[in-house]
Amino acid sequence: MLQGLFDEDGGGDADFSYQITSSSSAKSTVERPPAPRNQTNLCGLQNQGATCYLNALIQTLLFTPEFREPLFSLSAKDLNLPPYSTDSGQTSSIGTTLKVRKIIVELQRLFAEMLLLNQQACSSIRLTDSFGWQSNETFDHQDVHELNRLLFDAIQKSLQGTKQSNLIRTCYEGSTINYTQCKKCQKVFKRIEDYQDLPLVVQDSPNLQNSLANMFTIHEHLIGDNQYRCSSCANTLCDAE
Ligand SMILES: [Zn+2]
Repeated sequence: MLQGLFDEDGGGDADFSYQITSSSSAKSTVERPPAPRNQTNLCGLQNQGATCYLNALIQTLLFTPEFREPLFSLSAKDLNLPPYSTDSGQTSSIGTTLKVRKIIVELQRLFAEMLLLNQQACSSIRLTDSFGWQSNETFDHQDVHELNRLLFDAIQKSLQGTKQSNLIRTCYEGSTINYTQCKKCQKVFKRIEDYQDLPLVVQDSPNLQNSLANMFTIHEHLIGDNQYRCSSCANTLCDAE
């Protein structure tokens, strides 16, 4: 259902402009300035309809320095911004088309606004525009877990070819190791699985360490109907743990 949710090349915005325009200039009445930050000194995000789940995700990314700082380290040249872009159909000196990395540009812009502007809340419209979202998509409540995965895929794709192409992997991927020991030959078998998120039970758990321990240091006996097929014991079923 969420396939194609992040389409950096979509959205039909061939005139994609990075000029800051004043929304009040065309109106006869003068708009009130945005409300300043309150006592927390934090900047929120306006809800576009049903984007609270996306806003929560953006806030989490903003307050992850390991993600935010490498993102800010990308220059206008890295992001193929004018005059480095060739979105107008021209090709670069080496004959390749350099598309603006819109999602990363808009993440940088929004992060900068949230950190520097004295506003109670910022708008994420330019970011969702960079996803190629139409207004109906900002009114559909998505599953935040699935959205997170798709957003990371879109960021990863947008970062391809830059010095931060491994950013998502470095920040958000880990491995679990599953050990199985055959009780007959005593050989230990190791299975490594990569993950981007961990499902944890937090109910009735005093802290996160406890939840992690409950989930990943489980000792299981593989006996009876659940015996282990050991490759060192001619693929016969053996007791294991
Ligand atoms: Zn064995």
